[in-house]
Amino acid sequence: MDLFQMRDFDAHEQVTFGYDAASGLRAIIAVHSTALGPSAGGCRMWPYGDFSDAVSDALRLSRGMSYKNAMAELPFGGGKAVIIGDAREKTRQRMEAFGRFVDSLSGRYITAEDVGTTTADMEQVAAVTPFVSGLAQESGEAGGDPGPKTALGVYLGLKAAVQFRLGRASLEGLEIAVQGLGGVGYPLCRLLAAEGASLRVADARPAAAQRVCQELGAQQVPVEAILAQDVDVLAPCALGAVFDSRSIPTLRARVIAGAANNQLARDEDGEALMRAGILYAPDYVINAGGIISVAHEYRGDATAAQVKAQIERIPARLTEIFERARREGRPTSAVADQMARERLAAGAARMVA
Ligand code: NAD
Repeated sequence: MDLFQMRDFDAHEQVTFGYDAASGLRAIIAVHSTALGPSAGGCRMWPYGDFSDAVSDALRLSRGMSYKNAMAELPFGGGKAVIIGDAREKTRQRMEAFGRFVDSLSGRYITAEDVGTTTADMEQVAAVTPFVSGLAQESGEAGGDPGPKTALGVYLGLKAAVQFRLGRASLEGLEIAVQGLGGVGYPLCRLLAAEGASLRVADARPAAAQRVCQELGAQQVPVEAILAQDVDVLAPCALGAVFDSRSIPTLRARVIAGAANNQLARDEDGEALMRAGILYAPDYVINAGGIISVAHEYRGDATAAQVKAQIERIPARLTEIFERARREGRPTSAVADQMARERLAAGAARMVA
């Protein structure tokens, strides 16, 4: 495996591999860019079948964090960690070993929770390094579990996309399919149902889907059928790379607005969505609520109310992208990528000056 030749390598500043024999830790930290500040992004724990899949994920996710932090106007660069392994096998020793690995980068990378890791895990990481956020907080303080904050930003962004594409100010009576009902998908469903949307849901864990059906009157659909539902809006909130040349021709929703990172398998898939007449809310713009919370918790410079006010700026940011994409006849994903890259380049130029 030649890292520098990998398709997902994008001039990353640093990629490091961490191993701890005593705890069984095998982890990767990818720092994509520190042009706008120390790199920040969550730690994913996943049982990757192949080592190169884990490296690819770290590369793609860390670039996504650079773009996400730049678009959210946060003074942070992009980084991401992956721990190779099943989240059910987590131990305090392994999380502490991961914390020491983070610490060895002396603040060039700040971690937090992501798929497969929790606030409790980050408390264990915090025992050995200060370069961690997403810890339990007192009420009124910024921070804590980023999932509900991400869900709030996705909900508000989804409404902006519905307004733009369908001309509707309310979600009342709209059909929305949600894929993945975890830390973000579940609170998102609650917000959507509270506004009168009709939900179709799927999760790889049947109990997660059953809970949403019982509590919110959602309709459960098979995991393999959720993306192709004939609905107004599709909200992917599970894993990435869900939109590719196989899935896009089967889609029937007119709006895609969800939390999952790296929803497009390849950059070109944004063009295919546009041609299919689907308005795509770029993932790293709509799902920035969690990192906005984590970033301010880390800096200790905002209250929970101030963080909420920042999350409420996500819809305006998306609408700007939608309008520019329409004006220029380009995919929303390409417009967002260009805006993010311009911000990174400006940051890099300031570093040199
Ligand atoms: P999570 O692990 O809590 O939940 C993910 C859910 O998706 C799980 O319930 C899992 O069973 C389900 N799932 C996995 N594969 C599936 C499939 N093929 N079909 C249906 N369901 C499936 O993760 P989360 O924190 O809710 O994050 C969801 C997505 O949003 C991830 O892509 C994550 O990177 C992204 N994201 C999360 C945050 C956050 O604050 N947690 C922030 C930004 C982006």
